[in-house]
Amino acid sequence: MASSSQRDVRLHGVGASPGVAEGSALRLDERGRHQFYYLDVSPTQARREVRRLHEAFEQARAELLEIKARLTHELGYEHSFILDAHLLMLEDERLLVEIENEIGTRRVNAEWAVRSVIDRLEEAYRQVNDAYLRERTSDLEDVAMRLLMILSGRDKFDLSKLDAPVILVAKDIWPSTVAELDFDRVLGFATNSGGITSHAAIIARALGIPAVVGLRDVTRRARTGTPLIIDGAAGEVILRPSKALARDYARRQQQDNARLARESQATEAAETVDGVHITLRANVELPAEIDALARFGAEGIGLYRSEFIFLAGLPELPGEEEQYRIYRRLAEATGDAGASIRVFDLGGDKLTLKGFEEEMNPALGLRAIRLSLRVEGIFRTQLRAILRANLHGKLRVVLPLISTISELREAKRIISEVKQEMAEAGIEHNATLPIGVMIEVPAAALMADLFAKEADYLSVGTNDLTQYMLAVDRANENVAHLYQPLHPAILRALAHLVRAAAAAHVPLEVCGEMAGDPLQAVALLGLGVRVLSLLPASIPLVKRAVRAVSLERITALMKEAMKLATAEEVEQLLVRELPRQAPQFFAAWASPS
Ligand code: PEP
Ligand code: MG
Repeated sequence: MASSSQRDVRLHGVGASPGVAEGSALRLDERGRHQFYYLDVSPTQARREVRRLHEAFEQARAELLEIKARLTHELGYEHSFILDAHLLMLEDERLLVEIENEIGTRRVNAEWAVRSVIDRLEEAYRQVNDAYLRERTSDLEDVAMRLLMILSGRDKFDLSKLDAPVILVAKDIWPSTVAELDFDRVLGFATNSGGITSHAAIIARALGIPAVVGLRDVTRRARTGTPLIIDGAAGEVILRPSKALARDYARRQQQDNARLARESQATEAAETVDGVHITLRANVELPAEIDALARFGAEGIGLYRSEFIFLAGLPELPGEEEQYRIYRRLAEATGDAGASIRVFDLGGDKLTLKGFEEEMNPALGLRAIRLSLRVEGIFRTQLRAILRANLHGKLRVVLPLISTISELREAKRIISEVKQEMAEAGIEHNATLPIGVMIEVPAAALMADLFAKEADYLSVGTNDLTQYMLAVDRANENVAHLYQPLHPAILRALAHLVRAAAAAHVPLEVCGEMAGDPLQAVALLGLGVRVLSLLPASIPLVKRAVRAVSLERITALMKEAMKLATAEEVEQLLVRELPRQAPQFFAAWASPS
């Protein structure tokens, strides 16, 4: 067992937001989880407890409204929805009445009644076979903690007044806690639970704060004050780092995107040494990230993951107006450079729609375009919102997980129909809407020549393409070593895609994580890719890599790489040659020999 003084203790979780942070821990369970006492109360006291309960509900509501206003201001309108679920709970008469009844019938104090009723509700939510509802237990717990804190009248830890930078360590980070944070003083998050789509993860990414979630027992292993490093890209936390390791990470931190971004000249051209311009677009999940586009020097948005409108905690499906507002913001913010809106990519590893059963094999199931074509009403609403918003800029639409030409034709037919209906109804819109196909399935990659004839552009999603070509679950730790974007099969697929797109004179871009990794991004350029779409915060780093290489030389290098038999050999070749070709950028990649 690890002793409390042992150095370099590595914990593995899920990398939720990239970047390296080093600092000391602030363990958040010190904020709450007081023990609450059971008190027998008399009928008169019970009436007083009910009054206290009402006041606590009122105060909790007022606090949440204040936090919501702050969240809207700091992170954008869409985030305020996160707190709507909490507010709804506090406004729900049934919850209040049930707690009142608990006080009245069991003759207990308000704290005890809140705890018992919410425990019961949480248990009921957990039993429901619905991922969305299960997720809501953390919202319910958040509300419970707020009520209990108010009722017990204890001072709460004031997170907005941290006096030194910290890394937050917690079981989970509740949305309202995030909203209360002093963003300038939080270096990163490390949590026991949560996945890549948890609120904490989403907000960490939007703020550019490194985060690792799903660490299981980090709260047991780190106390407030424990020095630690979090490596968001690797999904790793290192407790009590030794001097040598801390130095190593300090060096890596130097290349850290966030720091580079702060210093980066966003206006610097993304041009190779031999003068070829590479287009660097942004992958965007949250409207809050839009403001960062100019700061990071993105040429428009290559991938807007529209399903994040659902994932940000909306209680209901977003309607046409809400979607229109968001898409219009994307259109206006990107101007001529434009924005590609990906049709909802729900299902699979992402959120499932209510009313759909869990599947045995979700990655191969009813997800992405398959779901849009099945639940056509949702697809049509989304298209109407996009077509209307398109009056304010240059939008494109991109279809995820296409595996047959028929799906593309069917989607195009629906898009034409929606345009026609809008025209007939006199609804103003801009019908010039290029349609792209995401190449994520091996079948689509092999048929790229045919897709290029019927689509306006190809967008290669290397995350899924790698998953499906290599039959490796992209989120499964047990097979993570087999998840190899530089696998010769992937390189061959990419080379084939580039050739097919060029032959058909159709633009091609890559929007998977490969585009955000300097080594892999350069490999993509060597294979002939000229447009990359990546996390905004990764653009400065990749731009530096682009500016350091000669396209002619990396093209020759990739010709060599294409002869190799394994991903390891490809990587070794790149790690050996790139520091020679472009030492000003890749020196840090050279192995110490
Ligand atoms: C991909 O699969 O590469 C992609 C960009 O889409 P996502 O990561 O959202 O599945
Ligand atoms: Mg994908």
